[in-house]
Amino acid sequence: MAFEGLADRLQSTLQKIRGKGKVEEADVKVMMREVRLALLEADVNFKVVKDFIKKVSERAVGQEVLKSLTPGQQVVKVVNEELTALLGGEQSKIAVSSRPPTVVMMVGLQGAGKTTTSGKLANHLRKKQNKKPLMAAADIYRPAAIKQLETLGKQLDMPVFSLGDQISPVEIAKQAVQKAKEDHNDYVFIDTAGRLHIDENLMGELKQVKEAVKPDEILLVVDSMTGQDAVNVAESFNEQLGLTGVILTKLDGDTRGGAALSIKAVTGLPIKFVGLGEKMDAIEPFHPDRMASRILGMGDVLTLIEKAQVTVDDEKAKELQKKMRDMSFTFDDFLEQMGQVKKMGPLDEILGMLPGANKMKGLKNVQIDDKQISHVEAIIQSMTKYEREQPEVINASRKKRIAKGSGRPIQEVNRLLKQFEDMKKMMKQMSGMMKGKKKGGMKF
Ligand code: GDP
Repeated sequence: MAFEGLADRLQSTLQKIRGKGKVEEADVKVMMREVRLALLEADVNFKVVKDFIKKVSERAVGQEVLKSLTPGQQVVKVVNEELTALLGGEQSKIAVSSRPPTVVMMVGLQGAGKTTTSGKLANHLRKKQNKKPLMAAADIYRPAAIKQLETLGKQLDMPVFSLGDQISPVEIAKQAVQKAKEDHNDYVFIDTAGRLHIDENLMGELKQVKEAVKPDEILLVVDSMTGQDAVNVAESFNEQLGLTGVILTKLDGDTRGGAALSIKAVTGLPIKFVGLGEKMDAIEPFHPDRMASRILGMGDVLTLIEKAQVTVDDEKAKELQKKMRDMSFTFDDFLEQMGQVKKMGPLDEILGMLPGANKMKGLKNVQIDDKQISHVEAIIQSMTKYEREQPEVINASRKKRIAKGSGRPIQEVNRLLKQFEDMKKMMKQMSGMMKGKKKGGMKF
């Protein structure tokens, strides 16, 4: 996951000062030196680092901190606030035109993820905001770009406008907007051509497209793995075209995070969305405050809740609670529960959103890979219905059969049975505690 090194270093630095009852200027100096190094190592633009350190230092030795009862924590709060500001402050949403369709021009270098992101974004707006987007294939140079968008359209069941690769992008864009008007689409995403490097011809053409369709948004798609190059690309595109925002892709990779932390400060452009994988739902609106707290190990519980809300079925959750209470929880429920968690995304990413997750060293070493989960699923699926409901009947010969059926060693079957047993015990204790509370008439 992105930002790992930076998060580790910032958290261990801040940990030292967090609990301090008294903070001297010298403490702040030592801390800021470490923060500075951590940011530089994460490939943050040096000027941005300098400004950031200056702002935090001034505030950290100021009255708001020194006079407070918990100065250590106040320093952490200042870092959090300044980091949020650095990442853009407020969330920047995508424009909505008062006269639909809202025209969104997608630009960027080849390979940054422009076509993929056009599909993701259109899909996101349809799913989350009930919009009806049209995608337009105006990249007539990259071989297969049009085909790629058409395939995405089919996969998403989303209309794609294309006129082949013999018509000029300006004409394609114009006609696409016209078509969107006729079909009452509220968004049109124009996937424009990219190049390996910025060149005059490309910019000239993009300017013409801009002139012709007067887009409400011109979003630059940049690859966060390219670090400071991404920032330079953003600066050039912005100078020439006048961008309205940036989408950072590949934040699921092990980027050090420099691009995300420098782009807003260097270019003034907000990061509107981030790409977190190759799949069509791997996109998230960018919330500077949530990202800052993730980096500082304070968790991102809000995103976690939002993910749970869209993936976890309310009725099922209630049913499950009841089963936990009356102890009728079976392996079938367990299987279903795992399916729901899996829908929320890769497990290590989900756990990373919990407060303090970075500090749980043990957690980090547990590589929770999806393979392990499919092994557990295979074992449960090899049980009969009777066994899933009454796991206590699973004797040695049944275990052997289950191991064989799932292709997993017998020890793994044993381990899963033991875990399930422990879980049930824990539920029993918990429900006992709840009942005890009720009986005892605890008052709050
Ligand atoms: P374009 O040339 O800018 O249109 O780039 P594409 O949309 O064809 O993407 C280039 C490659 O990057 C493809 O293999 C995509 O699957 C991949 N990609 C795009 N966005 C992301 C992302 O957020 N994470 C990861 N891991 N891969 C991505």
